[in-house]
Amino acid sequence: MRPNDFHGGVHPPENKQQSTGEPIGSIPLAEDLIVSLLQHTGATALPLVKLGDDVLKGQKIAEADGLISCPIHAPSSGKVVAIEPCAVPHPSGLVEDCIVIRTDGKAQWCELEPCDDYTQLNRVELLEKIRDSGIAGMGGAGFPTAVKLDPHGGAEIDTLIINGTECEPYITADDMLMRERAEEIIAGVSILSYILDEPERVLIGIEDNKPQAIAAMREAAKGTHFNIVVFPTKYPSGGEKQLIQILTGREVPNQGLPANIGIVCQNVGTARAVYRAIHYGEPLISRVTTVVGQALERQRNIEVPIGTPIHHILKHHGIHRGLMQKVIIGGPMMGYTIDDESAPVVKTTNCLLVPTKKELPPAPVAKACIRCGYCAEACPASLLPQQLYWYARADEREKLQAYNLFDCIECGACSYVCPSTIPLVQYYRAAKGTIRQAEAEKEKSDRARDRFEFRKLRLEKAEKEKEAKREARRKAAELARQQREQNPDSEEAKTGKQEADVVAAALARVKSRQEDPQQLLARAQRTLSSAESRVERLRSKLDAADNSLRDQLAAQLKAAELKLQEAEHKLTLAKRRADRDPVREPSNEEASAAVRAISKARAAAEARAQMSGADKLAADVEALRKRVSKAEVRLLKARDENDANLEAFETALEKLQKKLEDKMREQQSAQGGEQ
Ligand code: SF4
Ligand code: SF4
Repeated sequence: MRPNDFHGGVHPPENKQQSTGEPIGSIPLAEDLIVSLLQHTGATALPLVKLGDDVLKGQKIAEADGLISCPIHAPSSGKVVAIEPCAVPHPSGLVEDCIVIRTDGKAQWCELEPCDDYTQLNRVELLEKIRDSGIAGMGGAGFPTAVKLDPHGGAEIDTLIINGTECEPYITADDMLMRERAEEIIAGVSILSYILDEPERVLIGIEDNKPQAIAAMREAAKGTHFNIVVFPTKYPSGGEKQLIQILTGREVPNQGLPANIGIVCQNVGTARAVYRAIHYGEPLISRVTTVVGQALERQRNIEVPIGTPIHHILKHHGIHRGLMQKVIIGGPMMGYTIDDESAPVVKTTNCLLVPTKKELPPAPVAKACIRCGYCAEACPASLLPQQLYWYARADEREKLQAYNLFDCIECGACSYVCPSTIPLVQYYRAAKGTIRQAEAEKEKSDRARDRFEFRKLRLEKAEKEKEAKREARRKAAELARQQREQNPDSEEAKTGKQEADVVAAALARVKSRQEDPQQLLARAQRTLSSAESRVERLRSKLDAADNSLRDQLAAQLKAAELKLQEAEHKLTLAKRRADRDPVREPSNEEASAAVRAISKARAAAEARAQMSGADKLAADVEALRKRVSKAEVRLLKARDENDANLEAFETALEKLQKKLEDKMREQQSAQGGEQ
């Protein structure tokens, strides 16, 4: 199979050899395991244990709260010594509720339910087991796996993609996992394929910088129809959308999901976790993590219990505090720094990077943007990072959305190539955070408004009853007034008409605002989802409640179910209404300018994809020559004007010249090969 390419991307130094010199190891169990209740995308899990409880390894200690959530299990046996907010790995340094287990050193398992032959179970039973095992995507985002395997809206899945790409520098957890546990991964892929009703294609994507992993996976996949697809190394090929494009040539729509184009994508670590959950009945309580960086004496991969404090891992890898620069969770491109080393490993912790100052020097001070366009060239999501940067700085949220900020995968390729060393991706992260917060606040106020409107309806009903009593009196008064106004040209009649017009116009305005079908639909959807999650929560509470609380909870559940029915009915009405009156295309000028600019970039990328290799090289050389001449002119101008950003202009020109030289060499060797 011939893989495709995607727009943009960069080639940072890989630094993978440091941590692949020895097999996956382990370290002694930590005294305290700090198990976060939020290790996945979605709602925080609800604790099932209390202070002082004894727990066994693998025992469920927190239940999922709703559909998009995951249960949490004890990574080892011991006693619950705290349930409190603790530091967790998070870019903003936030604390989260955690269950702290003091381990007893016995690592005594609870009873598990193994299954030797998964085909004896049906799809729903398997999904339930996966959900109950607390498996969330182990590639980074931590989306609950069972939800991803059960696409809503009846999407037809024809392709299962397994991501073994791991393109980020330094990280080798998936590479080592594929080398050493290939059979378990392939067994997990078989289960995933069975759950998805045996899709037409099962593609396992691996970059060509992992020859041992490729060989192991090929060996393990013998006798199956799974296709191991190897493609050239380029960052960020491991991004879900980029990998889908490489392997299938299909593009996931803006703000859409792979399921919209018939694809489900899972990471190799997740496939292995699925196998262990079904075959051995083991919940997800440990993971393989890369521990790397020159500030450590020992660099390798370890299988570590979730909840292990980071300082415990660093201590067992001989950390040199005097040399280290910082502790990074993840790799140098997409990772983030943490200050508190008591934070624990969570389900998505794929790497601890502890570089020296020499190894990863701090970024130089950012200079002004010189509009060189490198960032747009490198962006794998075909965005316009320079524009996004300006709008993020100016906090222009509508424009950020129009320029598809939320399609940014935060890969950092734009920051990596920027000659002015602007930390572009940090601006995007902050802007996304602000927009999400504003949306959450809006949702909160919408909910408050719904409650207010419901109360208003009740009051209106009471008022109507009073009104009926007043009606008789009013009719009599009306009759008297009509008699007075029998002459329509009288002053009294004119004033009355004007007042009536003003009131009618105001009422029409209010009515049109209240009856906007799209607003009604959005409100109905929000009301339904909050009613669903309340019913879900009350059901789990009722299941776990003791006798003294059951009656009270059952009554609350009944009331919540009635509200849910009411919300479903309202949503059906709102959908019908919205179908009759679909949303209008925004006529906003910026939005259309953005769409035009993005389409132009996409069209250029598509045209390029049609070219032969030699034509592409010739076009690249020609374009680079032109850009070098322009950059020379700009540099001369900057020198004449003693521009403050002279250094950035020089760096930009140097980079371009180097690119041109590389491309010309590539062209010459290609021509040599052809002769
Ligand atoms: S200076 Fe940086 S932000 Fe500005 S266009 Fe060049 S790469 Fe993009
Ligand atoms: S961080 Fe976002 S804007 Fe920058 S290159 Fe990656 S996807 Fe594009």
